[in-house]
Amino acid sequence: MIRFDAVTKRYPDGTVAVDELDLEAPSGRITVLVGPSGCGKTTSLRMINRMIDPTSGTIWLDGRATADVPPATLRRGIGYVIQHAGLFPHRTVLDNVTTVPGLLGHDRRTARTRAMELLERVGLEPRMASRYPAQLSGGQQQRVGVARALAADPPVMLMDEPFSAVDPVVREQLQNEFLRLQQDLHKTIVFVTHDIDEAIKLGDQVAVLAVGGHLAQLAAPAELLSR
Ligand code: ADP
Ligand code: ADP
Repeated sequence: MIRFDAVTKRYPDGTVAVDELDLEAPSGRITVLVGPSGCGKTTSLRMINRMIDPTSGTIWLDGRATADVPPATLRRGIGYVIQHAGLFPHRTVLDNVTTVPGLLGHDRRTARTRAMELLERVGLEPRMASRYPAQLSGGQQQRVGVARALAADPPVMLMDEPFSAVDPVVREQLQNEFLRLQQDLHKTIVFVTHDIDEAIKLGDQVAVLAVGGHLAQLAAPAELLSR
């Protein structure tokens, strides 16, 4: 479980991006952070894997304060998926997946086999493995991004608008595949989106943030639907 305990982030210019946030993301569930641009979603997400450290407050991961865990150690257990996949442009799809920290310790063949399995899992044909990211569609790139994040089999996945940059038809496919994958994998997921429909569709629970970095509401998707 991930727990935010009175977490505040003030950037050096004085902007308070996250303000005294208390929040729990239960293990094996999808917690969606939703809200308008600038309400602190990305900042909250990046504090979990210590890309950003809080100004005050504590984030707990399975009972340990993340501030006490070196970032590299922490990130071994945390997959991270961003909007434009963040793939290395000069590496093939296969190499993008095999060169993540979780697979680097393995011999080439094991890493390759695992990577091919992951690519299949996220719905990519084997022949895509030798392509470069620029030779893929946006939706295919996002699939590689998800495979890459899953490579180390991290218990936690942080996802920042992973499906927002693709067209609506592909977005819906990716959402459905993601829900199917999660039924098998039971990751602890924190998922950021500005799209309330996506939040309702994907979230086991939905945290609505307001500008200023406050928690406006924490609800089950059905409760949001009935409003
Ligand atoms: P969201 O993901 O909800 O759009 P962000 O977490 O990116 O929100 O940003 C929250 C607030 O913090 C915004 O007002 C944004 O302008 C500000 N902010 C984000 N990053 C920085 C930074 N590096 N320095 C100063 N302000 C920042
Ligand atoms: P390299 O092959 O150059 O060592 P990595 O795969 O370790 O690259 O990481 C590439 C980039 O993605 C780096 O900027 C790293 O900080 C970031 N990154 C990789 N995994 C994570 C993660 N779990 N959480 C946060 N950032 C990550």
